[in-house]
Amino acid sequence: MDVQTQLRHINEEIIEVCKKSGRNREEISIIAVTKYVTPERAKEALDAGIVHLGENRDDELLRKQEILGSDPVWHFIGSLQSRKVKNIIGKVAYIHSLDRLSLAKEIDKRASSAVDCFVQVNTSMEPSKHGLTREEVVPFLKELKSFPNIRVVGLMTMAPHTEDEEQIRSCFRLLRTLRQEVQALKLPYAPCHELSMGMSNDYKIAVEEGATFIRIGSSLVGNQTGGANS
Ligand SMILES: *Cc1c(COP(=O)(O)O)cnc(C)c1O
Repeated sequence: MDVQTQLRHINEEIIEVCKKSGRNREEISIIAVTKYVTPERAKEALDAGIVHLGENRDDELLRKQEILGSDPVWHFIGSLQSRKVKNIIGKVAYIHSLDRLSLAKEIDKRASSAVDCFVQVNTSMEPSKHGLTREEVVPFLKELKSFPNIRVVGLMTMAPHTEDEEQIRSCFRLLRTLRQEVQALKLPYAPCHELSMGMSNDYKIAVEEGATFIRIGSSLVGNQTGGANS
C-alpha cells in the first residue's frame, strides 16, 4: 500500500477519535517511524505531507538525514547510549528516551543550547522495557535542575504488546496523570506539555487518552528492512 493511502486512513481514524473524545485534531502530530524502511520510502511519507520523522539508531538517522535533509523534524525515539549522544546532538529536534541522569549529563555537556527531551516512563512495569518507574519521575525531574541544556517538553511511553485494551489504556492514563504531577511542579526547565504515546497498534487509544505525538511505523510506511522491495 502506498504511504499516501495509509496516511489518509490513519488521518480519518484520528479525526474520528478526536470527534468522539472532544479533542482538536491540531493537537496531535504524527511521527513517521522510518527505522524499518529505505530513505526512498521515508521520502514518500514526506511527499504525502508528513513533517516528523523518527529513527532509533544514530547511524541510520544520519544516513537518512544526509539524503532527506534537515527540513523534516527529526526525532530520536530509541534507547540512547551515552556514547552515541555526540553523534545526534544538533541533528535532532527531539530526544524521546531520556531515562537516566548519566544520559542527561552527556546531553547537557554536548549541547550548545537547550535540547527538547521527553522523559521515558515504563508505565507497564515490564522488566524488558526502558524508562523510569512512576515513582522515579518526579525526583528525576527535580534533579535535572543542574543541567541547563535539558528542557523536558513531555513524557513518553510504550504500551505492552497485548490484545487487552484496558491494560494499554491504563498505561496511557498513567502517563497523562504523571504529566499533571510534573506540570504542578512548575519547573522552568520542564514545561512538559506533550505526551508521546501510541504506535501502529494502539494509536487510537493513545489519541483518546491525550497523546500529542503518536509514533507510527509499520502501519504507515511498512516494516520491511531495507532492500529493493521495501
Ligand atoms: C519502532 C517504534 C515505533 C513504531 O512502531 P510500529 O508498531 O511499527 O508503529 C514507535 N516507537 C518506538 C519507540 C519504536 O521503537
